[in-house]
Amino acid sequence: MSVNIEAYRDLMATLPVEATLVAVSKFQPNEAIESLYAAGHRDFGENRVQELASKAAVLPKDIRWHMIGRIQTNKIREFAPFVHLVHSVDRTDVLTVLQKEAARADRTIDILLQVHIAQEETKAGFSPEEVLGLCAVNVLNEYPNLRIVGLMGMASFTEDRDQIRREFSLLASLYRAAQEQLGVGQITVLSMGMSGDYDLALAEGGNHIRVGSLLFGARISQ
Ligand SMILES: *Cc1c(COP(=O)(O)O)cnc(C)c1O
Repeated sequence: MSVNIEAYRDLMATLPVEATLVAVSKFQPNEAIESLYAAGHRDFGENRVQELASKAAVLPKDIRWHMIGRIQTNKIREFAPFVHLVHSVDRTDVLTVLQKEAARADRTIDILLQVHIAQEETKAGFSPEEVLGLCAVNVLNEYPNLRIVGLMGMASFTEDRDQIRREFSLLASLYRAAQEQLGVGQITVLSMGMSGDYDLALAEGGNHIRVGSLLFGARISQ
């Protein structure tokens, strides 16, 4: 069995109504996505452009595709026309090219700023100071085809749940600061929490959780 429908139903039953489950389907076959789709699910997340584009081309058109992985600017054109929400905008280069490709596709793209909240250097993202700088109206005017709708973060890879919770709490306070700058009507998405820590993310106010292995089983690859 490639997808655990029971785990899916259990998770949906405990999720607050205002929260969105992004089912992370990376490395999963189309059939696994179709099973979850048949159960009524529409939000799916992928972390590699090639895989995102080839799945979107053949799967139902009402799926909302979330780009959650590290973005190479030369691949943005492949998902700009259809992506629902880009979670992983982690540097200004990406903003620049996303703006160009959104204009080219004649649409507005909703994006999240990825914030570096983990202790590892390897995790991508803007610093909290950079995020607040980007949430200034004069800066946003440079990106007329992009709409910053929230923040995304990944906690440290650790067994220390107190540390994970502190990192989510930090992101949540930055989210509230961004709301103060741009308004609660615009900043509505706080994307944090994965299979191992989504409960902590929800407790800290996260409203988009990105869950893969809990639904689809362990992956062979990251
Ligand atoms: C793979 C991935 C997830 C899901 O991880 P699981 O531990 O399988 O739930 C969430 N977010 C990002 C950015 C990912 O790359």
